[in-house]
Amino acid sequence: MASVNENQQKLDFVRQIVADDRKSGKWDGRVVTRFPPEPNGYLHIGHAKSICLNFGIAAEFGGKCHLRFDDTNPEKEEQEYVDSIIEDVKWLGWDWGKNLFFGSDYFQQMFDRAINLIKKGKAYVCDLNAEQIRQSRGTPTQNGKDSPYRNRSVEENLDLFERMRKGEFPDGSKTLRAKIDMAHPNFNMRDPVMYRIVHASHHRTADKWCIYPMYDWAHGIEDSIEKITHSICTLEFENHRPLYDWFLDALEIYHPQQIEFARLNLTYTVMSKRKLLKLVQDGRVWGWDDPRMPTICGMRRRGYSPQAVRNFCDKISVNKFNSTVDFALLQHCLREELNKSSPRVMAILNPLKVIVENYPEGKVEYLDAINNPEDPSAGTRQIPFSREIYIERDDFMEEAPKKFYRLAPGREVRLRYAYFITCTNVIKDSAGNITELRCTYDPATRGGDAPDGRKVKSTLHWVCAKNAIDAEARIYEHLFTKENPDETGEGQDFTAFINPNSLKVLNGCKIEPYLKDAKPLSRWQFERLGYFCLDSDSKDGKLIFNRTATLRDEWAKIKNAGI
Ligand code: ATP
Ligand code: MG
Repeated sequence: MASVNENQQKLDFVRQIVADDRKSGKWDGRVVTRFPPEPNGYLHIGHAKSICLNFGIAAEFGGKCHLRFDDTNPEKEEQEYVDSIIEDVKWLGWDWGKNLFFGSDYFQQMFDRAINLIKKGKAYVCDLNAEQIRQSRGTPTQNGKDSPYRNRSVEENLDLFERMRKGEFPDGSKTLRAKIDMAHPNFNMRDPVMYRIVHASHHRTADKWCIYPMYDWAHGIEDSIEKITHSICTLEFENHRPLYDWFLDALEIYHPQQIEFARLNLTYTVMSKRKLLKLVQDGRVWGWDDPRMPTICGMRRRGYSPQAVRNFCDKISVNKFNSTVDFALLQHCLREELNKSSPRVMAILNPLKVIVENYPEGKVEYLDAINNPEDPSAGTRQIPFSREIYIERDDFMEEAPKKFYRLAPGREVRLRYAYFITCTNVIKDSAGNITELRCTYDPATRGGDAPDGRKVKSTLHWVCAKNAIDAEARIYEHLFTKENPDETGEGQDFTAFINPNSLKVLNGCKIEPYLKDAKPLSRWQFERLGYFCLDSDSKDGKLIFNRTATLRDEWAKIKNAGI
């Protein structure tokens, strides 16, 4: 099958390797990648980079990408996470077909291969505990010390390992270690642990096993069994590659190529699952899908479209150097996409009532409004207009400075799709707060243009008071006040930088009636206010909108300033 990318000019270094391998016939032209999440948390935007890279390469080169759960650590893994990961990868629009795998399905094969290594004299059962192993590892400048159990006979190792499996020993009392080199300059090669004893129930294998494989041992075997061609992982595994290679060479089995790329870091956010879990557990956010979270489900709830996330992943480079991407770039991709795809509607976040005094009482008329100027196929809708409407409180000033072009006493403005109105009176309560405006309208300006050619300096959004629906709007800011919350001072952790203003709830918003039956997670542009998404918790007529993004594109500004 012809691949899209083979005709393209510029490939990132991973795609270049894949393209070269296709050319040279290294894997008989096959391309098989995998996305291997550990089901110990929800996926985040960093994972999206890896997902788009792995699934993207498979799609572009006519290959396959497996979704494989690296579920080798029963203490931290749960079915809930498996389900959420499946949902999120699907939502992003990727399809693994029949290629859904679980590392735990290979436990028996891993065990058999461990026996094989023991027989080859390349693995031994060690009685040192975790702390003793750590101490005997040495330092970067000092060789490690051989374990006193390193030279056990093959027979003794086979016997002990089998008894480890049978559950004869308590947690942590023994491990199986690879016999490599305690003086190796690479720490990972100093007799790494392959198996540990953990009497814990696994979410798939239940109590069948009480020894569990370590990542480095498990991963290469999983890749090998699945005949992966390019095993793409993040940079921190670069110095695990010699071990990956050592295991597969020692086993003399199919041997994929491991390739490392730089992980995604994003400003104003933390990305490690451990930290995200802490935010959830400490109640700093409502849950994994809190719209402030960088999780895929949080972003979905916030109103990100899968296409926006994929566009972002296409835009950020795939290379070998760690760097941090500006959050504004993510929002830029989001805006670009939502601008094309989201219907426009009118909503008032902070309402101020306006009575149009010369408009007939009891009359309601319907005016045509364009659903999406970027997409003519979205058509038009009819919006009601009557004598009482709401405008945004910010759009009125009693004593307006020169540069304020919106509504003020005596000033005429346009109501979008409706009429020109002029403010004639300001009504206040006894405390002096403005409670209502009185205006007149010009019937000749229906639709928003004056036949005599007279101009107004601004156009306001509005909703008809009689038909408006009530809603709550949730306005978000970054979850952290610091660009890099992982950069902490002494005695601090990242939670020190949680933004106390990351959520503002606005009650009493007024929305045009068109949204009465809007579906949860539907995305809208509220004219002049930003992009909003109907929260999944909206029910029984209570509408809650999450602000996905403002309309102002910080990234375009940064770019235009040439920074
Ligand atoms: P975390 O650091 O968030 O706990 P992890 O690497 O432990 O993540 P895994 O479930 O093992 O999480 O990740 C699955 C895949 O996603 C791995 O191949 C990993 O390299 C990749 N990945 C994780 N975080 C990022 C990131 N920030 N950018 C790119 N890829 C990532
Ligand atoms: Mg991991």
